[in-house]
Amino acid sequence: MLAGVSVEGRSIEAIDIAGSIAAPGVGALVFGAIHGDEPGSAELCRRFVAALSSNPPLYRTVVVPALNPDGLSRLTKNNARDVDLNRNFAARNWTRAHPPGYDPGPTPESEPESAALAALVAHLSPRAIVAVHQPFRCVNWDGTGEGLADDMALACGYPSVASVGYPTPGSFGSRYGVDEGRRVITLELPRPVPDGDWDGCLRALRCCTIFPPEP
Ligand SMILES: [Zn+2]
Repeated sequence: MLAGVSVEGRSIEAIDIAGSIAAPGVGALVFGAIHGDEPGSAELCRRFVAALSSNPPLYRTVVVPALNPDGLSRLTKNNARDVDLNRNFAARNWTRAHPPGYDPGPTPESEPESAALAALVAHLSPRAIVAVHQPFRCVNWDGTGEGLADDMALACGYPSVASVGYPTPGSFGSRYGVDEGRRVITLELPRPVPDGDWDGCLRALRCCTIFPPEP
């Protein structure tokens, strides 16, 4: 399905994969390339879609391989208006103050790409959400994601960490993990991704699809 359209008119595709267990709601939402200079994150999402099409997830799973297709097309971090989309979410800690290169946009969710993701979360209310990034090689959690982060870390062999070590006002994790208490994971791949890492990262993503609906 079409989740939205970028500043330059590129489609933001969301691939919707049915689960092997018939159950209401969405088990997991996974997205990559919110930063356009992290092409390995989009590649992992594409490989995940391929893996799920031959071996379905437990619960319905939605994958957005490239949230920032304009940035990805030129391998730049920010979107076409030079906004850092991962500082543009309507979190309580959103602020206009920012270091160079981290422009959070004029207002929260001013950008079509972040607005599309916010709309998707509101529409799907997934039980786990994974943002795939590069290059820090770790699994970071917000909200209620700690147990899942530990399972994912075991699957991929990267460390599970509570903090990336610097403030992230207006980030996706701030809005949906910290503010809303959802199960939010940031899977940070190395850059580049070594050939031997893909299988473990795919196993880590599959860990996100196993949460049943609340009774
Ligand atoms: Zn990133």
